[in-house]
Amino acid sequence: MIHNYDDDCIFCKIIKGEIPSYTVYEDDDVKAFLDISQGTPGHTLVVPKTHVPDIYAYDADLAAAVFSKIPMIARAVKNSNPEIKGLNILNNNGKVAYQSVFHSHIHLIPRYTDHDDFGMRFKDNSSKYDEKAYTDIQNAIKSQF
Ligand code: 5GP
Ligand code: ZN
Repeated sequence: MIHNYDDDCIFCKIIKGEIPSYTVYEDDDVKAFLDISQGTPGHTLVVPKTHVPDIYAYDADLAAAVFSKIPMIARAVKNSNPEIKGLNILNNNGKVAYQSVFHSHIHLIPRYTDHDDFGMRFKDNSSKYDEKAYTDIQNAIKSQF
């Protein structure tokens, strides 16, 4: 993999070892380390070892290199603690989507109970959608490929 770094990026500094991290796995393509916040115990970040700001910047090769490692790292996190009952995998893109570090990363968030320190809300808005509303959105997305 080609490694391009941004000198002002905190995750690039972690990849280069200029800032310490609790690394759990690394290879030529990715580094996985504990999120400083430990939203739940074992909260881990997986980052590509090249500076890409968000999901839109991946090409297919980078995506294959990074995302193909996620199941292996997820298994290691899950197997690290018998108390872990589930795992949320999250990739935030854009400030409005809670991205705060603009070097793309994937959160692995172990889940212990349904009232632990992580939550997500999926509202069901289906009652507000008719066939036209769905197909307008479907076509808007389809036309972008
Ligand atoms: P985002 O909000 O961009 O999806 O997630 C950024 C994550 O990076 C946050 O969960 C935050 O706790 C974590 N983080 C920020 N700075 C550092 C750091 O210096 N070291 C580590 N290990 N994690 C960090
Ligand atoms: Zn970076």
